Amino acid sequence: MITYRHEPFTDFTEEENKLAFEKGLQIVESYLGSDYPLIIDGERITTQDKIVSINPANKDEIIGYVSKSNMELAELAMQSSLKAFESWKKAKPETRADVLFKAAAIVRRRKHEFSALLVKEAGKPWNEADADTAEAIDFMEYYGRQMLEIKNGKNVESRPGEFNRYHYIPLGVSVVISPWNFALAIMAGTTVASMVTGNTVLLKPASTTPVIAAKFVEVLEEAGMPKGVVNYIPGSGSEVGDYLVDHPKTRFISFTGSREVGIRIYERASKVNAGQIWLKRVIAEMGGKDTIVVDKEADLELAARSIVKSAFGFSGQKCSACSRAVIVEDVYDQVLSRAVEITKKLTVGDPTNPNIFMGPVNDQNAYNKIMEYIEIGKQEGKLMAGGEGDDSKGFFIKPTIFADLDPEAKIMKEEIFGPVVAFAKAKDFTEAIEIANNTEYGLTGAVISKSRENIEFAREEFHVGNLYFNRGCTGAIVGYQPFGGFNMSGTDSKAGGPDYLLLHMQAKTTSEML
Ligand code: NAD
Repeated sequence: MITYRHEPFTDFTEEENKLAFEKGLQIVESYLGSDYPLIIDGERITTQDKIVSINPANKDEIIGYVSKSNMELAELAMQSSLKAFESWKKAKPETRADVLFKAAAIVRRRKHEFSALLVKEAGKPWNEADADTAEAIDFMEYYGRQMLEIKNGKNVESRPGEFNRYHYIPLGVSVVISPWNFALAIMAGTTVASMVTGNTVLLKPASTTPVIAAKFVEVLEEAGMPKGVVNYIPGSGSEVGDYLVDHPKTRFISFTGSREVGIRIYERASKVNAGQIWLKRVIAEMGGKDTIVVDKEADLELAARSIVKSAFGFSGQKCSACSRAVIVEDVYDQVLSRAVEITKKLTVGDPTNPNIFMGPVNDQNAYNKIMEYIEIGKQEGKLMAGGEGDDSKGFFIKPTIFADLDPEAKIMKEEIFGPVVAFAKAKDFTEAIEIANNTEYGLTGAVISKSRENIEFAREEFHVGNLYFNRGCTGAIVGYQPFGGFNMSGTDSKAGGPDYLLLHMQAKTTSEML
């Protein structure tokens, strides 16, 4: 087997790649507005009730009409998953891994089509969409290999006259609930991690990006996934989500999304319901309030560029996005003015245009929430760039910088999940790290510094799951920078890391006397 290497990003300055991507957009345009049924036990089920997926850059453009599951259909899917588990758990790990390798090959072949669909359904600019698709491929290649590595369990000792063995078996039926912001990568990654380990999956994708999930389930089918191993059941989080989270036959839940929903799931999953014979396991990866700290001895151009890119890439809608810049006072004015200068040149618009840096935000709710935070920011800080939105055609918000924030300000503490970054001044590096830690989250962070001493201080004291030095705080790569956060950012499951699959399994010890 070839050693794992991450999928390279596409260079769109090459004319050939640009043309290939445009072809991907044409393919997607040819199927806009189609109907997508539920997929339960391999059967297509069409419902009257639909989720209408729209293009957030152009509200009039319908991406697809997606059938919507309800409690009865969720129950049907549960029965299918329970049945499929009985045979899938016995499928050889090699067979299960092969489904991932084949699915990766299919997505790679149709790479620009998948990315183009992310441009249309999630509002991602080309390079962001390309990275999302590359990450989905990486998850499949990486978890497939990981499964082969752990299939024989781990070594334990045996005394004379006994034979001991320690290996991992699947858990059962999982409920995978995914977010819209990495509509392909996270949805695919959490699904395949669960299935490659021998579990079956009830997949409830985010309601604003269900079409890309439908396309992905078709790929799994084409790659040889048996019926019922992944059931595709889009629907309302509160109806279908609660039903399946509470279900006594649900063995574990893999959730990625907001803190609020994550806590709700965690609480509900902790209750043992009638007929339930286990304690449910919960993987919950939640929000962030991520900070870039700039030291006084630092490459200030790198600092300004890292802040801008991490704050505004994909309109700040990444759990890892930089939403606070904490800068030592000696260099504060310089970094701030350079960041404002770069930000004012950024282009915002329909991301089907390859020259656009930033597309829309996700939907009307996201738009309203971010605009409310911008109003709060105007009270709490000094508006330096942006601050305006336009939701007449799509949900566009200008990249926004606020300066001179008190560390206790609302926009310094709460996740905004949009293109808004708050700057705060620290008297020295120690205080900067204190401010960075002054949040209930703990997902990502970055330090821009030339001081070895300060870098080592931050390595110990900056309490985040993914800490970066002299670069931005977004863009973790599967198998290179395993991803997950501390505190209210979640269970620190470290997606794309060597321990991740084990969270989807249970260890069994056997000891035989000879
Ligand atoms: P969200 O919590 O609104 O939704 C996530 C998923 O949960 C969706 O599929 C939604 O339909 C579902 N859901 C809603 N209510 C539910 C309920 N009662 N029971 C079960 N499921 C329910 O989050 P979102 O807006 O899709 O995503 C943005 C959030 O996700 C941000 O907070 C971001 O930081 C976080 N996020 C975290 C990571 C990470 O790895 N830590 C990665 C991506 C996004």
